[in-house]
Amino acid sequence: MDEAKEEKCTPNRVIKKRDEEEEKRGGSAKKTVISSFFAPRKAAVKLEKSEEKNEPEKLSSGEKAEEKKKSEKGVESANQGQYDPSKAHYHPIDDACWRRGQRVPYLAVARTFEKIEEDSGRLRNIETLSNLLRSVILLSPEDLLCCVYLCLNQLGPAYQGLELGTGETVLMKAVAQATGRQLDKIKAEAQEKGDLGLVAESSRSNQRMMFAPANLTAVGVFTKLKEIGSMSGNSAMNKKIDIIKGLFVACRFSEARYIVRSLAGKLRIGLAEQSVLAALSQAVCLSPPAAEFPPAVIDAGKVMSTESRRAWLEEKALILKQTYCEMPNYDVIIPVLLKEGIDELPHHCRLTPGVPLRPMLAHPTKGVGEVMKRFDEAAFTCEYKYDGERAQIHIVENGEVRIFSRNQEDNTSKYPDITSRIPQVKRESVRSCVLDAEAVAWDREKKQIQPFQVLTTRKRKDVDASEIKVQVCVYAFDLLYLNGESLVREPLSKRRALLRESFVEKEGEFVFARSLDSDNTETIAEFLEQSIRDSCEGLMVKTLEKDATYEIAKRSHNWLKLKKDYLEGVGDTVDLCVVGAYLGKGKRAGSYGGFLLACYDEDNEEFQSVCKIGTGFKDEDLEQHYNFLKEHILPKPRPYYRVDQSAEPDVWLDAVQVWEVKCADLSLSPVYKAAMGLVDPEKGISLRFPRFLRVRDDKKPEDATTGAQIADLYRKQQQIQNQGEKTDLEDYY
Ligand code: ATP
Repeated sequence: MDEAKEEKCTPNRVIKKRDEEEEKRGGSAKKTVISSFFAPRKAAVKLEKSEEKNEPEKLSSGEKAEEKKKSEKGVESANQGQYDPSKAHYHPIDDACWRRGQRVPYLAVARTFEKIEEDSGRLRNIETLSNLLRSVILLSPEDLLCCVYLCLNQLGPAYQGLELGTGETVLMKAVAQATGRQLDKIKAEAQEKGDLGLVAESSRSNQRMMFAPANLTAVGVFTKLKEIGSMSGNSAMNKKIDIIKGLFVACRFSEARYIVRSLAGKLRIGLAEQSVLAALSQAVCLSPPAAEFPPAVIDAGKVMSTESRRAWLEEKALILKQTYCEMPNYDVIIPVLLKEGIDELPHHCRLTPGVPLRPMLAHPTKGVGEVMKRFDEAAFTCEYKYDGERAQIHIVENGEVRIFSRNQEDNTSKYPDITSRIPQVKRESVRSCVLDAEAVAWDREKKQIQPFQVLTTRKRKDVDASEIKVQVCVYAFDLLYLNGESLVREPLSKRRALLRESFVEKEGEFVFARSLDSDNTETIAEFLEQSIRDSCEGLMVKTLEKDATYEIAKRSHNWLKLKKDYLEGVGDTVDLCVVGAYLGKGKRAGSYGGFLLACYDEDNEEFQSVCKIGTGFKDEDLEQHYNFLKEHILPKPRPYYRVDQSAEPDVWLDAVQVWEVKCADLSLSPVYKAAMGLVDPEKGISLRFPRFLRVRDDKKPEDATTGAQIADLYRKQQQIQNQGEKTDLEDYY
């Protein structure tokens, strides 16, 4: 469709143009004939006026209002069904499908999802979402928060753990009851289509004539999702079904599809959180919130060249992304964005005990030689790299202790033993703080560290302190906040000194990470050997003074990891996402015999195939994987999977689980797509002889090893091979 034609179709423009024409004609001509077009415009004008008085619902006479409402609804529905936030030169007011002061229709959100799902281009999708959000900001800013949560399919801040994940049975029953179709038919169709959302959507259309309930609004849907999310237990099932039915009967167009997917906790339109953040910052920059209407600025980027617009938007997005790392809570961020603007964010949203921050990550290195080269003259320290679970320990001002995982999950109820020992190991001067530490399984009798596998046998939630079998020792290695002050911009030397001043060690319970400050290659090599003898994974090497700030959520070169794996073939293990499975044969018949693994490419936000894996599994592993993964089968690959036809699996799987995998080496491959274009213009990289090690529950699919990291590992391996050092371990030092 060319743009001129497209323009004619845009909901608010149609009305505006006709109004203008009418005015030219003297106001009343043909009024009756085209009344259905004028009615909504007039009603809307009325609404705007009454809203200025904060009385959006009150219209003069009951009957008149009813009349207007009805005709408005008819046109509105058609307009909203055509809403297209992906159109070129989108105008956030004229192209929106609702008016200022109205609540955002859920259909606008659903249409945005449709457009994003149809397109796999990351930048285009950011633009599309930002267009929706620009309209929301200018027309209904109070709905911005719920729209962002709907896009993320979250009910609140991730760390609060409010989860959507309504069981299929409940959803199917609700679809059946709302549409009058038989449950069996729904089940069969869902099996066939692999998406209950699509089944719900097509079932709705059969029933369209039965009801004419109020149109769904974004805030209405979000509130219901929250209500459902907060219900638990079997007794809640019927209540949930009732709420879902209530939503379904009001669904139009694709709304049912996305409501079902949201409820199931699988929106999966290919929109990662980083893209939502980019779209949000783009929206507030281009169409800044304004008190006046119409706003003075509709598109602040219009006057800029493409290049400077891009650079400006990237710079602003960084402010939002960094703020989000320190304060991962949209409930706090969005009101500030709307009131103060993006530049003010860092002054209003700061690191706060009780709110987990994304942890600093380390770069792998291939040996002490590389460490020395990288750090050159800079002062650094080597610490034992303990093999347990990352524990971010917060002491809140009121004395409460909270413990968060690498993934910002609340692990407080998993570690009542750590919580209760904190008051004994902290000095009195500490009123509030955030500690970075590793919780490691500890054998109290033998007084030694136990392997990571022992820690995994510990219960994950609601642990009763008196029943703990696996004891843990906390190894503290950083202090990020102390008594009202963020320390992340301070160098490690200062953070470490404050850590040691603020806490006391207690054997087997709370100990500072063992460290060595030396730049002598041999001493470091010995320390590495010693760390391995002491049941650690190797060393973490960290700058102390220069470039030694705590880089939230970054894999910074200020921290290097030196693992014992580097001494055995490929430098590091990798964490990969399962995206497909191959049916088992022989002994493995009836379950999956092999799996297709993918790394995550951050730049393109896609999963890139990297190998097939069939070894390293115990029988019970295979059974467990089958039972878990069969619930995540897809009828076709996601648009953001990059897989060559020749490696296509028997079943496609939703990228929901991350596995730690070890391999013999890496090779260039015409089949696998990992790091495509980074090392070779045509070929990707594949892992050779991969072995399954364990499931990484603490990593989300987007936390899997990236394409760039795979390329890095490959390059390092090449360097080693070129130097003929591959098997000579001595040379690693
Ligand atoms: P990454 O976290 O880098 O994605 P990963 O989860 O596989 O990778 P590793 O590569 O094993 O983890 O290394 C980083 C982890 O090591 C940290 O997240 C932390 O849990 C752990 N760790 C143990 N000892 C230390 C230490 N002294 N300093 C920092 N981290 C440590």
